[in-house]
Amino acid sequence: MENKETIKNQIQALRDKINQANYEYHTLDNPTFSDYEYDQMMQNLLDLETQYPQFNDPNSPTQKIGGTVLEEFQKVVHESPMMSLGDVFNIEELNDFFLRVQKEVRDFSVVSELKIDGLAINLFYQDGILVQASTRGDGTTGEDVTANVKTIKNIPLVLPQKINLKVRGEVYLPLKSFFALNNERREKGESLFANPRNAAAGTIRQLDSKVVSQRNLASFIYTLVNYEDFALKTQKEVLEFLAKLGFSVNPYYRYFSDLTQLPDLIAYYQKIRDEVPYDTDGVVLKVNEFKLYDDIGYTAKAPKWAIAYKFPPQAVETKLLDIIYQVGRTGVITPVAVLERVNVSGSFVSRASLHNEDYIIAKDIRIGDVVLVHKAAEIIPEVLMVNKSKRSNNLKEFSMIKNCPVCGSQLVKINDGVDYFCLNEDCKGKNINGIVHFASRNAMDIDSLGVAVIEDLHEVGILNNILDIYKLKNQIDVMNGLFGFGEKKIKKLLASIEISKNRELSKLIFGLGIKHVGQKYAKILAKHYTNLAQLREVKLDYLQSINDFGQQVSQSIYTYFHNEKNVSLINELISLGINPQSTNQEVDNDYFVNKKIVITGTFVHYSRSELTLILENMKAKVSSSISKATDLLICGKEAGSKLEKAEKLGIKIILEEELEGLLNG
Ligand code: NAD
Repeated sequence: MENKETIKNQIQALRDKINQANYEYHTLDNPTFSDYEYDQMMQNLLDLETQYPQFNDPNSPTQKIGGTVLEEFQKVVHESPMMSLGDVFNIEELNDFFLRVQKEVRDFSVVSELKIDGLAINLFYQDGILVQASTRGDGTTGEDVTANVKTIKNIPLVLPQKINLKVRGEVYLPLKSFFALNNERREKGESLFANPRNAAAGTIRQLDSKVVSQRNLASFIYTLVNYEDFALKTQKEVLEFLAKLGFSVNPYYRYFSDLTQLPDLIAYYQKIRDEVPYDTDGVVLKVNEFKLYDDIGYTAKAPKWAIAYKFPPQAVETKLLDIIYQVGRTGVITPVAVLERVNVSGSFVSRASLHNEDYIIAKDIRIGDVVLVHKAAEIIPEVLMVNKSKRSNNLKEFSMIKNCPVCGSQLVKINDGVDYFCLNEDCKGKNINGIVHFASRNAMDIDSLGVAVIEDLHEVGILNNILDIYKLKNQIDVMNGLFGFGEKKIKKLLASIEISKNRELSKLIFGLGIKHVGQKYAKILAKHYTNLAQLREVKLDYLQSINDFGQQVSQSIYTYFHNEKNVSLINELISLGINPQSTNQEVDNDYFVNKKIVITGTFVHYSRSELTLILENMKAKVSSSISKATDLLICGKEAGSKLEKAEKLGIKIILEEELEGLLNG
């Protein structure tokens, strides 16, 4: 028999781990564990608590609903608790659930619904008008998110009838919006949401409703709390009633009473799961007749008349053969899993992301392990977890490399981040990736310059950086001597390089690979600067005044264009004829170009420094003292000696109203 103390410790360790996972998932919207791993830990804890009831604790996560309430929101106490659901993971467990129901009641039917992987929402309509929306929180108290929920297009703000209605359902982020959101976050250098559920939860708890409205959240409503007010007797009637009132009710609900249908039903939902444009994590099966609910009863956190059948993860097992390391163009080192080839959700996979050192250590992933692989947030497959029951004894614990796998330089972490970087400016790995990025479709789009060609030319030393691309026309002899480089291929390559010289400025900026500057920010920069020469002169305070740029992005752009090496790269690009002019300038007002301007007094709409930036961006020369050479004095309220002097010298004076007109062209 196992030592009691060991069991107690085991239970405590599991509770601690699950509490931490709950916090990361429900409060931070940023889980470390997959739902599958979480459910397994919870199941282990439940098993131990059932086996050793002497260690039961009302504070155990098995007894509590996981969420918390964020301080930033008003609290809403729920009229009736918003409960969780018990879960089962296979048909046997599902049959057992219905056997338990049959022990309590006879003659019942069942409604099955897709389990939407979002977050629960509680809506209150008074006289047909949506007056309050709240999250589930800890089940008793939630957060008031009315303003945010009002931006969700398929939640009616006004009902066709002036009734009081208390409904509940799920808010979720469609897959398309989720991928778009993560793409945008990647461009901004922000962390990615692990899955659509966490993205939806993070969005609904945004403090700015404008952000929420841009993210395309959607909803399915499935519960009517005050069904008695409408003399409704079953879940089926409720779903029909809700649909008539204009709520989005998930169309894949089924009504049945023959329980032998369960295996077919689950198979049906597994198929639907792959077809719908949103994430689902199972099927919810509910006893249909409300009058039976009290007889069947409730546990501390879930009704006993409903159950969630959880889908197995869309993941497959395979062997982790090796861990290799990629050197990104910024020098970031990414550990990559080399896998025994396996089919994951319809495509063959032999590489998968392992993210970083912390991820591998948290999951204790070791070379030789049998691992579970799935398609993750970024479409790139991801190693989800280890199947430890299949681990052989002698596998070595993972330890991160200390040196760049390409150039051998010592790796470093920057600003306490999780990633390691190779900082060697001449690292071949970094350089090749930099060229690949520069030539890629969204950057300079040099279609004959793919990875293989770049590697070949790099190997013989004629392509070490992006400048060398434009010097390849002087290397025809070298290329001619290379295996696989025929005359035709070389001609095509040089032609596509020549064509790339005419790409837009935004594509060139993107191609430079400035940290945090993806396509979107490159386009914004190209609206504010006309050409490379202007970009060489970027000022930090001006960048910071651009609405879309945060501190991190502004600093990164400024640092890039003030780095000596980059300045000489820009100069060489210009001299090689790569000097696109931006045509979509936001500022096309030439009134101020080259005018010598002095600013005095205070302004209603601008601070003096803001005005200076605006004028400098319009290529005016702003100085602090008046002289004969001054062209204009821009004069606010309470102007002093400068105004007098300007009047004496006969310098043109412009007041704020007039200035506004000029600024607006
Ligand atoms: P749950 O999400 O498994 O089930 C309850 C919820 O299902 C309800 O609150 C409701 O929001 C939702 N739901 C969706 N469709 C529904 C429908 N048609 N009818 C009724 N309800 C429907 O349980 P939970 O207590 O909210 O959360 C526990 C689950 O959350 C875990 O099983 C796990 O999947 C996940 N979780 C994961 C982590 C992690 O670290 N990955 C941590 C905590 C929780």
